[in-house]
Amino acid sequence: TIAYLNGEYLPLEDARISPLDRGFLYGDGIYEVIPTYNGRFVGFNAHMARMRAGLDALQIRDGLTADVWKTILDRLISENKQQMPDANIGLYLHVSRGADIRRHHAFPEGIPPTVFAYAFPFPAPQPETRAEAVGLQVDLAEDLRWQRCNIKSTSLLGNIMHYQQGHQRGLQETLLYNRDGEITEASSSNVFVVKNKQIMTPPLDHQLLSGITRMLLIESLASQGVEVLQQPISREALLAADEVWLTSSSKEVAPVTEVGGKTIGKGDVGACWQMAIQAYHTNKFIL
Ligand code: PLP
Repeated sequence: TIAYLNGEYLPLEDARISPLDRGFLYGDGIYEVIPTYNGRFVGFNAHMARMRAGLDALQIRDGLTADVWKTILDRLISENKQQMPDANIGLYLHVSRGADIRRHHAFPEGIPPTVFAYAFPFPAPQPETRAEAVGLQVDLAEDLRWQRCNIKSTSLLGNIMHYQQGHQRGLQETLLYNRDGEITEASSSNVFVVKNKQIMTPPLDHQLLSGITRMLLIESLASQGVEVLQQPISREALLAADEVWLTSSSKEVAPVTEVGGKTIGKGDVGACWQMAIQAYHTNKFIL
């Protein structure tokens, strides 16, 4: 694998960063994962805008425009596609604050950020060939992460602990609810709920990541005249739903058949999901 690190293209195993990098020591950084299919990016501009918003919130000034990123990522695809023959390539992008000798909580001034990217084989997009298409069984837990979940921080400890809890019970995700008993998202996905053919998803705020797949699905459905209500969803409403879906760049739109030991709907993949995944596949390159 050829990776990009601070202006250079080099074999991934030769990429080196300082142990004083604040991304390593503090999780002081921002990342993105962008899917590409045959060289076509899913939601490139939206991923760039989200990364820019995160870097601005952290006051990290990397100076890399979306055009510069596009050049870097196109080159990573062309360098790596021989090794990734199914032509589905995921791109990981990472900007951390950089290395500072002083151990200080304040943002240090004037140090160059660490900019890293690499390409990896991505799951095939065809839903019928995917484990997700038969329905995920997921855990349900109180969201114990921080209150800035709209920032795509490299500090994923809260997320991985939630994921691991479900994983150790043989489940494929962990859905989360806040102190008021409202659903926020899952440890690495956004959530949609269907009741009496009405599709709903929690509104965007600091409690959840503004998922690009979430946005693309809402727009895909809108382009077919199907409305998604963005409104708070209680844990009770989730468990009483006809269908539950999770969205993320790697899962696309995945149906959920069991939440916290409770069967959702009839326990199989729902009719609305069939419609939604088709709408998504037709429209996922719109942005
Ligand atoms: N929520 C969390 C916490 C995530 O980590 C992710 C993606 O990894 C998502 C939602 C889905 O975001 P996207 O659709 O942009 O992949």
